[in-house]
Amino acid sequence: MPNEALLPVAAPSDDPPRARALREYLVDRIVALGVRDARVLRVMREIPRHHFAPEYDLGEAYGDYPLSIGYEATISQPSLVGIMSEALELSGHERVLEIGTGSGYQTALLCHLASHVDSVELVPELAQRAASTLSALGCTNVDIHTSDGWAGWPQGAPYDRVVVTAAPEVLPPALLDQLADRGRLVVPVGSQDRDQRLERWRKAGDALYKQDLGAVRFVPMVHPPPTTTS
Ligand code: SAH
Repeated sequence: MPNEALLPVAAPSDDPPRARALREYLVDRIVALGVRDARVLRVMREIPRHHFAPEYDLGEAYGDYPLSIGYEATISQPSLVGIMSEALELSGHERVLEIGTGSGYQTALLCHLASHVDSVELVPELAQRAASTLSALGCTNVDIHTSDGWAGWPQGAPYDRVVVTAAPEVLPPALLDQLADRGRLVVPVGSQDRDQRLERWRKAGDALYKQDLGAVRFVPMVHPPPTTTS
């Protein structure tokens, strides 16, 4: 069943008029940057992004730039979240795999744009915090997994869509393997030193098509995860 709309209705005390006004302003900017997908824009107008960056004031939470959320992670730049969500071409029926849950903001969008989301995060504290924010906002169609996203999430494959929000130096093969026929994968690839490029892959039977969506900058995908010695 398409997940048409089921936006969480945040209590007014959690979503003051100033936050709504800042969101409108931000989304107008994202429209001006070329994002046209009406469903993406609608959920961006509705989802209280400040819940995902509680340590920042409202002005910062709605600025069009990334914010540090600890553990070397950032909540991604909102215009880029809009661009990537549009690039996924979601109709509402898809099963989605996300790598790099971070704050859970992109995950919240996916909850409302797709039918089910598996989201993989390496840092247990971030995974836990995102899961509780998402649950408080009524996102029931998401499972957060603490794991190394380099391997994807084979238990749930195949996925209609895969989106990655930490940059691997090369494309992890498992992510293409876990993509369903006619699926799409959106991923930033490259190192911090060299230019990262946002890539969109489409699978059609045995054929794979890659499209370059431009230069981006994401935190690196950690792989292999650091080992702890004790
Ligand atoms: N979409 C998130 C972006 C978070 S930053 C947001 O807007 O909040 C990227 C995230 O990827 C970080 O939380 C980081 O811990 C995570 N990450 C890095 N390497 C990873 C890996 N190998 N597997 C899973 N998550 C990883």
